Amino acid sequence: MAKTRYHPILETFSDALISEILLNLPHLKTMRTQYYLTIIIISACISQYKSQEKIQGLADTIIFEKILLDGDTAFIDQSTQEILTKREYRMLAETVEPSYIEPLLEDFWDTMQVNPYKSVALQYPFLLTFQDTIYHPPIDGRMVVTSRFGRRRRGPHRGIDIDLEIGDSVRTVLGGQVRFVGYSRGHGKTVVVRHDNDLETVYAHLSEYKVKTNEFVERGQVLGLGGITGNARGSHLHLEIRHKGVCINPEYLFNFYNPHIFADSLWVTEGLTNPLRHSSYRKGSYEVLTSRELADGYDARAEKIYVVRQGDTLWGIARKNGMRVSDLVQMNKNKVSATSTLRIGQHLVISP
Ligand SMILES: [Zn+2]
Repeated sequence: MAKTRYHPILETFSDALISEILLNLPHLKTMRTQYYLTIIIISACISQYKSQEKIQGLADTIIFEKILLDGDTAFIDQSTQEILTKREYRMLAETVEPSYIEPLLEDFWDTMQVNPYKSVALQYPFLLTFQDTIYHPPIDGRMVVTSRFGRRRRGPHRGIDIDLEIGDSVRTVLGGQVRFVGYSRGHGKTVVVRHDNDLETVYAHLSEYKVKTNEFVERGQVLGLGGITGNARGSHLHLEIRHKGVCINPEYLFNFYNPHIFADSLWVTEGLTNPLRHSSYRKGSYEVLTSRELADGYDARAEKIYVVRQGDTLWGIARKNGMRVSDLVQMNKNKVSATSTLRIGQHLVISP
């Protein structure tokens, strides 16, 4: 029998006290007190309803209660009160009954598509945490970056390209579980790994797979061999770093020249996920945003501004800065459209 969990405010209340409040609610003196107590009781009921969703299905006796722990789903073994992380729970589920892996709805554990998060609207800035600042280079030998996250002539580039030879080993940068193995349009043969911090890494243009979906992988384990499948001009690894389907500039998180992660906890702003605000031809420099205070206002500080002069046209400004008109309009959504008239002195955000 699962322990009843109340809203934190109600944990100190007894059942008798709650009934007492409910019975006396209409007689309480002020509307305001009635209002607040009603809200507390409603939220208590909601949280109780949520936490009592039990995960059952393992061999007979083990019953888990799903809970929220530090904002993430965890599981409590009802007999031992041991707390398991999502990953530990899945590993246990696999060993006990291989066919039984309960796909959690909020997990978006979908082995059929590269991006199952299409319906998710991310809130910015968001925090990413890593166990430590170590990652394994995705290829053996020296890493040569041939194209970066950012704007380029044939459209936005949402990953980083690392040079390799066909048949070279491609390794997972962090430990995790393989969520997707398959052919994806444009990306060719692709492997997606989900990591403990909910980050996902995408390895594209492979020639061969060395892992299967749902397999757990250690940091540095070979996922496949490098290749030229999909839309690739020459053999290379296209590596993407995603959080809930949104690509982050890999060079904001990972140092590709002296392999390490810049910090074990970093804030990510919207600008760091927008390829138009980065150049795929040049290495950018980024402030490591280790606090919410640093993250707030970072995008505005990093913005590159163009001041409109007499005789300027959108087309001319775009061309002068090596941009497409559509990119310029996209970056100044609320200020200009393709047909709007520019004002002298007007500020436009341009790509670096
Ligand atoms: Zn690429």
